[in-house]
Amino acid sequence: MDSRRGAIAGIDARREILIAFSDRVWSLAETGLEEKESAAALQAALEAEGFRIRSGLAGIPTAFVASYGEGSPVIALLGEYDALSGLSQAAARPAKEALVPGGNGHGCGHNLLGVGSLGAALAVKDYLLSSGAKGTIRYYGCPGEERGSGKTFMARAGAFDGVDLALTWHPSDVNCVLQARTLANLSAYFRFTGRAAHAASSPHLGRSALDAVELMNVGANYLREHVIPEARIHYAITNPGGSAPNVVQDLAESHYFCRAPRVSQAKEIYERLCDVARGAALMTGTACEIRLAEGLSDYIPNRTVGELLQRCMAPAGIPAFKDADRDLARSFRSSLSAAELGSALAQARYTQGREIARRLEESPLAEELGPLFPGDSLLPGSTDVGDVSQIVPTGQVVTACTAFGTVPHTWQFAAQAASSIGHEGMLAASRVLALACLEAFGDPGLLERAKAELREVTGGRYECPIPEGVLPGVP
Ligand SMILES: [Zn+2]
Repeated sequence: MDSRRGAIAGIDARREILIAFSDRVWSLAETGLEEKESAAALQAALEAEGFRIRSGLAGIPTAFVASYGEGSPVIALLGEYDALSGLSQAAARPAKEALVPGGNGHGCGHNLLGVGSLGAALAVKDYLLSSGAKGTIRYYGCPGEERGSGKTFMARAGAFDGVDLALTWHPSDVNCVLQARTLANLSAYFRFTGRAAHAASSPHLGRSALDAVELMNVGANYLREHVIPEARIHYAITNPGGSAPNVVQDLAESHYFCRAPRVSQAKEIYERLCDVARGAALMTGTACEIRLAEGLSDYIPNRTVGELLQRCMAPAGIPAFKDADRDLARSFRSSLSAAELGSALAQARYTQGREIARRLEESPLAEELGPLFPGDSLLPGSTDVGDVSQIVPTGQVVTACTAFGTVPHTWQFAAQAASSIGHEGMLAASRVLALACLEAFGDPGLLERAKAELREVTGGRYECPIPEGVLPGVP
């Protein structure tokens, strides 16, 4: 058996184990940086297969790396396993029904993500063992993608140093290589402190922290017009200062994200936003404490790695759906609004091309491979895979794990992350990642080309957007 067929056979042989494992992580539904049992289960599975484990990377208890093999090249597979709060949902049920009211749920399918990468790592281990090839496969257990910037803290701690290639994937509603840039993001808290007073009898003695939060928001609204159009500034009021209108609020806080195509641009906008906050404090006679809590770099697509993944996607990356999956997908699709479906189709025309998008109007599941993006398109979201991509040539694929049109971070996504649709998508991703690792192990020239391409963009420098001294997991 050639090595490619051997890797696919290894994934097929572990099919039921991987599915049960994914469903177990789905049931645990632990949120960012709290994924204790999920991380422990993944480490135990890797250790049982002969991987060497190093845990607690970057001071995060649920971050780890598991290595198998010796020497270079070193190829990394990234796994995630964090859930989202408030998205508890019955498995495979095409109607909103929380398993635990108000509980957590895998609304982004990271149970599939973590276990899909695990399936690939085990298949690559089989290959290294049977072929006697030189090289190391590493599985990175990356916590806190949704909240916590896990990989950014890991990157700052040097966890990805010495890696020649990093590969990962994400559950989606289509099948393609994710060859697009994402936005850098800085996340900061603005805490205003004033002086409490009776709002009717002695308002002149009060200094309102809530006024400062509101004036900062007004200033941020004016700032939005004078930043580059790709930038995004958004906020939540994390402490309005209480609920009593008759008390001048002496403490209030807001939480802002500043996103832009490059870290340097996000930093520049962030500094201007800090001036807005200081201005609001000056206007209201309050004090402002600014705390940068997290940050993410923009994702750098790598053409060499993208082409490698595209070669491996067909046909390994197309999930092997059955009629029962298509029927289930139809029920989920009927729960989507016309606007949701229309938006998905508009995006598919852009990312998959008009022909595939037209077929997706009729078919409930994506069963074709989309084209390789040109590489300079921009997705208006952010991911901490961006920080890995600044250090190591990185590639990502997406596979259909849901009915076409399903939006991440919804009950529909959470339900399908533990359905036969999600399972097939996950196994397809395992196959693609394993095949890509095999090709990379056998082609040192490919790795050199990918690294040269990255050096051309970064000059070999990485500056972490999270300053030293900022600790993981401090909200
Ligand atoms: Zn996600």
